[in-house]
Amino acid sequence: MTGRLFEIREFALHDGPGVRTTVFLKGCPLRCAWCHNPEGQSFEKEPMRRKNGETVECGEDWTAEALAAELLRNADIMAQSGGGATFSGGEPLAQAAFVCDVADRLRAAGVSSALETSGHAPEADYRAVVSRMGFVYQDLKHHDPAAFRRWCGGDLALVLRNLDWLRGSGVPCAVRVPCIPGVNDAPADREAFLRLAGPGTTVEFLPYNAAAPAKYPMLGRAFPLPCPAPVPRKP
Ligand code: SF4
Repeated sequence: MTGRLFEIREFALHDGPGVRTTVFLKGCPLRCAWCHNPEGQSFEKEPMRRKNGETVECGEDWTAEALAAELLRNADIMAQSGGGATFSGGEPLAQAAFVCDVADRLRAAGVSSALETSGHAPEADYRAVVSRMGFVYQDLKHHDPAAFRRWCGGDLALVLRNLDWLRGSGVPCAVRVPCIPGVNDAPADREAFLRLAGPGTTVEFLPYNAAAPAKYPMLGRAFPLPCPAPVPRKP
């Protein structure tokens, strides 16, 4: 089984418990206007021009066996810190069978996996991957279906069905809300997100990533949100 990645980041500290290695999978069904990993959106390999003028190919194919072996190089550090591997992207659920294959290999070696997902995936893929995870971060990008369609290009009902299943699955999880100025950061938005997440669910409100526009020129694209980026509201 082969999957396509655009980065492997070692010693990540914010992608789940303990010290982790994060795998960024290429390809995403959504197109969030504030996406800070635009090189993760296309499923195709694509040229990316670095600041020094060098052009690199973004996207690399790995077998599940080779990726698991690469991740297990840090197995001792992961075990000591209570960490593991995290699958991110892009949208890792768009390569669900590959993620399941790698996660099974890691689990057989005693290493747990975590997932960072938009939740926008067919239910069968979602459940297959989530049931193999030790922890799941699921995004809620907007609480309003029309706004979600407008800003992210997806179906909020699908995300909410998956979130509902996650809450009942027993897999430890947290909901993450990327706060985008003028899009979803009003006090009423915050209340709506908390209602949707439901009682007892951990919700993390993440500040707007002001570095998000930086990668777009490297891909020959324009940042979709108004520039200069709007100033975040004061809490
Ligand atoms: S779901 Fe994530 S990777 Fe996909 S477009 Fe949105 S922010 Fe980017």
